[in-house]
Amino acid sequence: PGVLKIGLIPADGIGGEVIPAARDAILALGSALPKTEFVTLDAGFEYFTRHGEALPDETVHALQQECDGALFGAVSSPSNKVAGYSSPIVALRKALDLYANIRPVLAVPKDPNEKPSVDLVVVRENTECLYVKQETLTFGPDGREARATRLITERASRRIGLKAFEIALARPRKHLTIIHKSNVLSVTDGLFRDTVKAIPSQHDKYADVTVAHQIVDSAVYRLFREPEIYDVMVAPNLYGDILSDAAAALVGSLGVVPSVNAGDTFVMGEPVHGSAPDIAGQNKANPIAAIRSAALMLRYMGFSDGADRIDAAVDAVVRDGSVLTPDLGGRSGTNEVAAEILKRI
Ligand code: NAD
Ligand code: MN
Repeated sequence: PGVLKIGLIPADGIGGEVIPAARDAILALGSALPKTEFVTLDAGFEYFTRHGEALPDETVHALQQECDGALFGAVSSPSNKVAGYSSPIVALRKALDLYANIRPVLAVPKDPNEKPSVDLVVVRENTECLYVKQETLTFGPDGREARATRLITERASRRIGLKAFEIALARPRKHLTIIHKSNVLSVTDGLFRDTVKAIPSQHDKYADVTVAHQIVDSAVYRLFREPEIYDVMVAPNLYGDILSDAAAALVGSLGVVPSVNAGDTFVMGEPVHGSAPDIAGQNKANPIAAIRSAALMLRYMGFSDGADRIDAAVDAVVRDGSVLTPDLGGRSGTNEVAAEILKRI
C-alpha cells in the first residue's frame, strides 16, 4: 500500500544500458512520487539461449500480480527462424492485452517558444494485423508458397480508434489521420478505416476532433515533406511500426522516440528502437528514448508532474546540445547523457 512497484525488463543488447538510465530518472523524482520499488524481470533472446524460453511465466505473473507499471528495453529477434523462439515483446503485449502502442514523435525546437517542426503521435494497433504470426509454407506448382494471415477485427479497430480519439481530443490541434491501404486491401483495411471513422457518430464527445484518412504510402511521403500536417495518426500494427520508425528519422534518431504499450489497466513503457547490436556494449546508445518512455509510463499512471519534470530535463539537454550521443552528432556516452539529464530533473 502506498508503494509503487515497477517491473524492469531490460532484455537484450542496449536494453541493458538504457533501462538503468530510465530507472534512475524515476528515482531522481524523489518525493514527487510515492515510494517506488523496482523488480528486474527476465525475457529476451539472450535469456532464451540460456534457458530455452524467451518469456518465462514468472515475468508475466510478476507483471500481472505485483507491478503497477513496467519498462521494457528491447529484444533481439534473429531474422531467420530459430526453433522454439518467438519474440517475447509481441507475446507480452498479448498476454497483458496492451492493445495500444502510443508513440509520440517530437522535434525539440532550439527556442522553447518556437513551434516544433514535428509534433505528432503514432497510435499503433498492437495485437493483430500480420503480428498474429500465422504463417504457412506449402508446395505448389510454383514451388514453395508462403502465406501469412492478416487479421483485422472490428473490436480491435474500435478500441484502438477510441484510444486515438481520446489522445487527439486532449491535444491542442485535435486532428486524427486514419492510415490504411484500402485501395488495395479493401476488406481488411476497409474494416479498419470504416470502424475508426464511425466512432464520432457513436460518441458525441469527439465532435471537435477533425478526421482525415490517408493511404499509408502517401502518408509516408507527406510525412517527410510536410510533417506539420500531422497530429495523431492511427494505424494497423505493421503500418504503425513502419510509420513510427520513419517519423523517428525526422527527429534525428530512433534513440529519442519513446512509447507506451497501453491496455485498459496497465502500461509498459518501451523505447521504439530495437536492441541495436551494432552499438551494444559500447556506451554509445542514446538513453533518451528509454528515459522519455519512463516519463510516458508515469504520465499514463497519473503522475503527470513527474513526467513533465523528466521531459523538461531531456528537452533542456537536447536544446543545450553539448552532451549528446553520436546518433545526434554528439561525442558523449550513454552514461554522461543520462547523468546530465538526472542532474536537471
Ligand atoms: P534497431 O532499432 O535496433 O537499430 C536501428 C539503427 O538505429 C541502428 O543503427 C542502431 O544503432 C540505431 N539505434 C537504435 N537505437 C538507438 C539508440 N538508443 N541510440 C543510438 N542509436 C540507436 O533496429 P535493427 O538494427 O533493425 O534491429 C536490431 C534488433 O532489434 C533485431 O534483432 C530486431 O529484431 C530487434 N528489434 C526489437 C524491437 C523491440 O524490442 N521492440 C524493435 C525493433 C527491432
Ligand atoms: Mn519497430
